[in-house]
Amino acid sequence: MTLFEKIVAREIPAKIVHEEDDLLAFADIAPQAPVHILIVPKQVIPRIGEATAQQAPLLGRMLIAAGKIAREMGIDESGFRIVINHGNEGGETVPHLHMHLLGGRQMTWPPG
Ligand code: AMP
Repeated sequence: MTLFEKIVAREIPAKIVHEEDDLLAFADIAPQAPVHILIVPKQVIPRIGEATAQQAPLLGRMLIAAGKIAREMGIDESGFRIVINHGNEGGETVPHLHMHLLGGRQMTWPPG
């Protein structure tokens, strides 16, 4: 099982902030911003580049969930960033697709 499957199965504790039939959102253990939430599909898609057209509705629901969580956390008006890391140079460390929702501070560009 991936680390995030274990969180989905409640085998590893996490601060869960949102759940739907096919996705879960929880606080990142090493937050990079005052709000740092990970949104993961319950089924394992290793990384975004391996997602299929069949999974497009699920990917869309992950984005919609990010907007909903941002509203609930009060960062929709101030602004937020969504990040997906793919592969080594992308900075991916957990091989289970996850979307980072970051907010509560000024983001900079280019990203590190
Ligand atoms: P990435 O580098 O894009 O693969 O992101 C993986 C993220 O998972 C990092 O931001 C980690 O801080 C986070 N992370 C690792 N272990 C846990 C955990 N047990 N609970 C919550 N977040 C975690």
